[in-house]
Amino acid sequence: MRSFNFSAGPAMLPEAVMRKAQTEFLDWNGTSMSVMEMSHRSPEFMALAKQMENDLREVMAIPQNYHVLFVHGGASLQFSAIPLNLTQAGDTVDYFDTGVWSSKAIAEAKRYVNVNVVAGGGENPTEIPDASQWKFSADAKYIHICSNETITGLEFKEPMLDVIFAQGKPVIADMSSNILCREIDVSKYAMIYAGAQKNIGPAGLAILIVREDLLGQARSDCPKLMNWDVYANNESMFNTPNTWAWYLAGEVFAWLKSLGGISAIAAINQRKAQNLYHYIDQSGYYRNTIALDQRSWMNVTFMLPSETLNSAFLAEAKMAGLLSLKGHKAFGGMRASIYNAMPEEGVDALIAFMRAFAEKNP
Ligand code: PMP
Repeated sequence: MRSFNFSAGPAMLPEAVMRKAQTEFLDWNGTSMSVMEMSHRSPEFMALAKQMENDLREVMAIPQNYHVLFVHGGASLQFSAIPLNLTQAGDTVDYFDTGVWSSKAIAEAKRYVNVNVVAGGGENPTEIPDASQWKFSADAKYIHICSNETITGLEFKEPMLDVIFAQGKPVIADMSSNILCREIDVSKYAMIYAGAQKNIGPAGLAILIVREDLLGQARSDCPKLMNWDVYANNESMFNTPNTWAWYLAGEVFAWLKSLGGISAIAAINQRKAQNLYHYIDQSGYYRNTIALDQRSWMNVTFMLPSETLNSAFLAEAKMAGLLSLKGHKAFGGMRASIYNAMPEEGVDALIAFMRAFAEKNP
């Protein structure tokens, strides 16, 4: 019996994908070996890589003028790779500072360029300031956002995104914790990046979606394995990729397709998030502190009436088969990460547990 695992990442993977991987673990696709024992240059693996890319292109409707790159180093390596690929020393770039992951991206970019913080700052903001307060710089090479702050569950939504797109600058988005959760128009972004370990597959892989005109500008001293051109020119196989993670990511994309694509999973995700926030809001017991119109669909944070109840809540939740609900230490409280692989029954079970806990601990 598998528990419902609310971990922020590495996170739950779709059970159907895990079961398929289990059945073909020793003999993948009639090759009489495991997919992770085979050369990444073999025709079989090259076909898998092509299929994986095509499936991702299909589910996200990625336009032809975008490259899809499969890279090492997680999302964090892109915090450095972005300025190294897109700027020269002395350039200015615009960053929103909406939480821990934005701040980390900013700190890394500051090693290479002048960073203008458009808005935000402070510790764990629970709200993105109103667009009237934003201060873009005239000469920014790009605008960077973390589209979903995983620790607090603070997410950029359409009206604000539209103001950002309207600046006419290349927009770069860290979508590590909300990629594939709903339909987006890729063509509005210059570059999207995401670590795999939430909505894509196991850790050890990051996916970049890069508009082709952004290639060819890397600094001469940009390390080869951070240079997007090198990945684009070598089918993301300049060196040996994480073949196991590629395989599982491919299975996740195929699973998404079989469900009916992103619009189908988005409808489920919306229901899961709405049900959980609705329960929290009307409980009069639990509290979510994020601005109402910026609440994440993927990471739902909530506080108990008293911090002293936290350990009992976590212990009893674990006994009920509801795992990894502890909030990030930087923010406290609880966090339920409800990525694509979390079934609706998992959220229903969490709400039922929360209701019973509140009744028992008035
Ligand atoms: N960005 C966001 C929004 C994240 O949630 C995380 C990881 N939790 C990262 C970046 C860093 O990812 P990685 O560990 O893959 O470098």
